[in-house]
Amino acid sequence: MGIKHRFMKSVIMRFGVPRVKRMVAKQRSLQEMPGILLPTSNSPTRFEIPMEMLKMLQERDDFEMRHVFPIRRLLSVMRNIHRSVDTIEENPSTPRSALTPELLEQLQDYSRGLGISRFGFVKLPQDLIFDKFGVFYDNVIVLAMEMSKEKIDKAPSQETLNMVFGTYDELGIAANKIAAFLREQGYAAQADHPLGGLVLFPPLAQKAGIGWVGKHGILITPEFGPRVRLAAVYTNIENLPFADSNNHGWIEEYCKICGFCVNQCPPGAIMEDTVEHETGRITNILQRECFEYFGQFYGCSVCVKVCPFSKTADAYDRLKAVVERR
Ligand code: SF4
Ligand code: SF4
Repeated sequence: MGIKHRFMKSVIMRFGVPRVKRMVAKQRSLQEMPGILLPTSNSPTRFEIPMEMLKMLQERDDFEMRHVFPIRRLLSVMRNIHRSVDTIEENPSTPRSALTPELLEQLQDYSRGLGISRFGFVKLPQDLIFDKFGVFYDNVIVLAMEMSKEKIDKAPSQETLNMVFGTYDELGIAANKIAAFLREQGYAAQADHPLGGLVLFPPLAQKAGIGWVGKHGILITPEFGPRVRLAAVYTNIENLPFADSNNHGWIEEYCKICGFCVNQCPPGAIMEDTVEHETGRITNILQRECFEYFGQFYGCSVCVKVCPFSKTADAYDRLKAVVERR
C-alpha cells in the first residue's frame, strides 16, 4: 500500500468518520421538525460515500486510494453543510412570499457574482427527496456552477480532484449566501449543499429546464455540457418563474448514437440500457462499481471528460444538428 493511502486512511478513520456521522445525523434530524416535506415510498436512497469508503477501508485489503483529499476544502464543505441546517432557524417567523421582478433580478445578479453559472426554478416533486431526509419548501432555485475544462481534461488526476472539491466548496458557500440573502429580504430559505444533498439533483435540474441528464447520469447543460455541479435553495417564495418545459430532450437521442462514456468508463459502470423505475426515475450507473473505481482513482470524472458535450463551446449546437440530420 502506498504512503498516500496509509496517510488518508488514518485521517479518515481518526478525524473524518465521527465528523461525517455527526453531519449526517444532523441532516436526518430535519425529518423530526414540524412542517418538513418528507420523502415518499418512491424516493431514492442516498449513497453515503464516506460510510461506503470507511467500509471499504476496513474490509478490503485491495482497496487503495491513490489520491489525497484537499483537507482545507473538505473541512469547509463540512462546515457549510452544518451551516445549511443550522441557519434554518434564522428564517423569519412571518416571511414574505412574493418576489418583485426587481428583487428577482437582484437575486440573479447577486448569485452570478458568487460564481453561479445557471439558474432554474422548479416545484419540487417529493419523490426526489432522499429517503430519511426532508426539506422545508417545495419552491426550488436550482444552482449550477461550471467546473474548469482544463482540469477536467486531466481526469483522473489529483489536480482534477482538487478542482472538483473546490467547486463543491464554492457552490456550497454560494448556496448558503443566497439563502441568507433571501432571509435578509424577509423570505424563508433553506440551502442544500452540492455534496451530501437532500434531494436527487440531476432530475431536479432537468425538470427546471436547465439541461438534460445524459447516459452518464450527469446533467448536460447547453453552455458547459456535463462540466457542472448542482445545488439548490428551497424557499417559501411562491411566484418564482417556474419552468414548464424543457428543450433539451434531443440529448437522449444523441446519447443513443454516442455511447462514449459507456465504452470509456474504466470499470464499465455506465449501463448501455438505462433502467426506468415505476416512478419514471431513471438509473444509468452501477453505483458500487463506479464508487470502487472513483474511490481509488482521484474521484475519476472520466465520463465528464470524454462526453462530447464537454469538448467545445459550440458542442451543443453542433450535436443538435447531428440529431436533426438523422
Ligand atoms: S466517474 Fe468514472 S467510474 Fe464513475 S461512471 Fe464516470 S467514468 Fe465511470
Ligand atoms: S458521452 Fe455520449 S452517451 Fe455519454 S452522456 Fe455524453 S453524449 Fe451521452
